[in-house]
Amino acid sequence: MCTLSVITRDKDYLVAMNRDEKIARGAGEPLETHHLHDTAAIYPSDGAGGTWIAANAYGITLALLNWNDIVESFRGEACHNAQKESDAGSASWLRRLHASHAGGPGPFSLCVHRDDVKSLSYSEVMVTPTCVQVGHFRGSPCAMASIHPIEIERIYSLDLEISAVQ
Ligand SMILES: [Zn+2]
Repeated sequence: MCTLSVITRDKDYLVAMNRDEKIARGAGEPLETHHLHDTAAIYPSDGAGGTWIAANAYGITLALLNWNDIVESFRGEACHNAQKESDAGSASWLRRLHASHAGGPGPFSLCVHRDDVKSLSYSEVMVTPTCVQVGHFRGSPCAMASIHPIEIERIYSLDLEISAVQ
């Protein structure tokens, strides 16, 4: 069970993701820029060639999740309460939210702590009309001091915008 947050604005968006996974699977490989079919994409690897989050130069972000209704209700309340904070929607607010332990550190807090499972990493994607920036922290979000993002120039395609409207 992972947590994904998406904040959309007029011309840009911000995505944050906690990767909640069995501790034995490890935190994965560091963030890298990959070149796939002449398009740059930024993502961390699971060490076996796969990933759970990626953003490409067109500003398209993909994330892999599963669903759990019980966890969703606990985390939904924490997210609802966090929206009342004065800096709600900012990147720093999103990092605090994903590092939070409402109800105490455990299986239902956004930053997960169990004997066998925890939030192994935190990823953040910022897409603007001119750039795609991905930051990644390998470790529990609550232990994150800072993240060092990788940035690529965005290929802004009017064709994509038109097809999204239709
Ligand atoms: Zn934590």
